[in-house]
Amino acid sequence: MAATSSLESFSRSLWWNKTEEPAPETTRLQGPAEADVVVVGGGFTGLSAALHLAEKGLKPLVLEARHIGFGASGRNGGQVIPGLKHDPDDLRDAYGAQRGSEMIRLVGNAADEVFDLIERHQIRCAPQRSGWIQAAHSELAKGSVMHRARQWQAEGVAVELLDRDGIAAQTGTSGYFGGWRDPRAGSLQPLDYARGLARAALAAGAVICEQSPALEIKPHGSSWRVRTAVGHVTAKSVLVATNGYTGRLVPDLAQSILPVQSMILTTEVLPDTLRRRIMPGGVVLSETRKLAFYMRQSHDGRFMIGGRGAVGTAEKPALLRALQKGMLRLFPELDGVALDYTWSGHVALTMDGLPHLHQPAPGLHAMLAYNGRGVALATVFGRLYAEHLTEGRPLLYPVTPIPRLAWHAIRKPVMDLGIRWYWLKDSLGFASK
Ligand SMILES: Cc1cc2nc3c(=O)[nH]c(=O)nc-3n(C[C@H](O)[C@H](O)[C@H](O)COP(=O)(O)OP(=O)(O)OC[C@H]3O[C@@H](n4cnc5c(N)ncnc54)[C@H](O)[C@@H]3O)c2cc1C
Repeated sequence: MAATSSLESFSRSLWWNKTEEPAPETTRLQGPAEADVVVVGGGFTGLSAALHLAEKGLKPLVLEARHIGFGASGRNGGQVIPGLKHDPDDLRDAYGAQRGSEMIRLVGNAADEVFDLIERHQIRCAPQRSGWIQAAHSELAKGSVMHRARQWQAEGVAVELLDRDGIAAQTGTSGYFGGWRDPRAGSLQPLDYARGLARAALAAGAVICEQSPALEIKPHGSSWRVRTAVGHVTAKSVLVATNGYTGRLVPDLAQSILPVQSMILTTEVLPDTLRRRIMPGGVVLSETRKLAFYMRQSHDGRFMIGGRGAVGTAEKPALLRALQKGMLRLFPELDGVALDYTWSGHVALTMDGLPHLHQPAPGLHAMLAYNGRGVALATVFGRLYAEHLTEGRPLLYPVTPIPRLAWHAIRKPVMDLGIRWYWLKDSLGFASK
């Protein structure tokens, strides 16, 4: 039997099958075109960049290989979580007091930025702001997340520190050792959010071309020319925002990230008794495991749980079984409840656990790899890029050379081994941020 393709699982997702925002009306790039900026990739990074560029009077043109939200942006868990995987103290240590503090503000306000955009553009994506719980899967991990929570507390965030009973009261499971709740976070329907950003970008004057994979980016005089199969577009600046779906457009870019498959399953709509008991009130949760489970109730009342842990584009039945097992371990009362949807997508990971921003040549940027936290961060990065181009502001987030992972060519066996290693570390209770 042929393996199920992660790429094509898109149309099996809850999001695809339950949308409020209509798909935007776009064209396919044909023949020659001109723009101020070509954005490659129609996910949150590319769409936020296009929206903010167009609002500031530039003419961006987005090239999307398939359709808006086809990548991680239209498939994710919809958890809007502020912050990086690095803590406030790490940022001050790495970048000094002033720049560190600016970065803390930037990433700490990331969820505000998403909810403000939704409000401003009236995006119908079921936004809910009920907080995020980071739950410790071991006593060891609990110490580490409490340390993180106290750092945000010191930054003035009204975090809640939770013991085992506290988490159980808020989620319905006593499967965690403790954790913290971040009130800045929330949830949304991600495909609708992507479509809403596209609608707003179009209204502000951006051009969006779907079914238009970029095949080549080449210098053209003092500009760049981006070629598709049936057209090309010339512009002064290009932003590559292809994340876990990055191909060969920019040398070494694909070799700088580890695309890992993340899978989600949802139950049928739960009866009211279970909706009141399991992840009630809109709270979302993710765990401290490296191969973490994340979960919430969907806006239409299903339990949904996701987790990472497969390499390549073929879906792994073992990952689905692990999700089912995890779900029943945490919430035994879901035994016998039918599953309605399962799908998967690619998360881009980096060795340092941080998003990467590169400028391989003047006028050419790449932004990618939010390490599973891109709903809020990708939105912010797109805005940063637009402000950099239009206002000449230096990019607050560090611009680094593209790192080439020497063993990338044999990444599949290496990552399979790495995934086994993480399963082992998780089972021993080590914390991951
Ligand atoms: C299953 C899953 C669950 C997740 N859950 C969460 C969560 O709950 N919270 C959170 O914060 N983050 C989550 N993430 C991560 C988050 O979705 C991503 O970080 C974010 O969507 C990245 O956005 P992006 O625009 O950078 O990339 P993507 O949304 O991946 O978009 C890249 C786009 O580039 C296009 N593309 C690629 N090559 C070309 C080309 N040559 N020409 C034109 N277009 C091209 C692709 O078709 C794709 O649409 C999850 C990811 C997955 C897969």
